[in-house]
Amino acid sequence: MTHNRFGPLEEDMPKNCPACDKPIKKGQYATLISLGPGDDKEAQQRCRDGRSYNAIALPVHLECATGEVIPIFEVGDSVRFIHKVNAMIDGMVPLNEGGIYLVTGISDRGVTLKGWVYQTWPAEWFEKEE
Ligand SMILES: [Zn+2]
Repeated sequence: MTHNRFGPLEEDMPKNCPACDKPIKKGQYATLISLGPGDDKEAQQRCRDGRSYNAIALPVHLECATGEVIPIFEVGDSVRFIHKVNAMIDGMVPLNEGGIYLVTGISDRGVTLKGWVYQTWPAEWFEKEE
């Protein structure tokens, strides 16, 4: 099954991802999972006939649907730390809410912010600056 990916999203989705029950946020990638014709009688008939129809589809995180991870930041991006609790990078450097940090590297370890490695923190703690 192939998935059409879309993103990075320009705004938050109104509903949580049905696969992980977490928000699908601005800046993330998603795909649509087709559920079927729903209660539309004409669409049901077209489905029975093996013809194309307008399907009810739900947005799901691309990662949750396919395992595919697309880095949401690129080198040179500025990201704002939007988590409500100040945090530490490598146990030394505090990140302050509202603070803006420069992405200086991306590797399979994670994203490097201004020389400090951000590894496993949730991407939703950051927001890309325009
Ligand atoms: Zn998900």
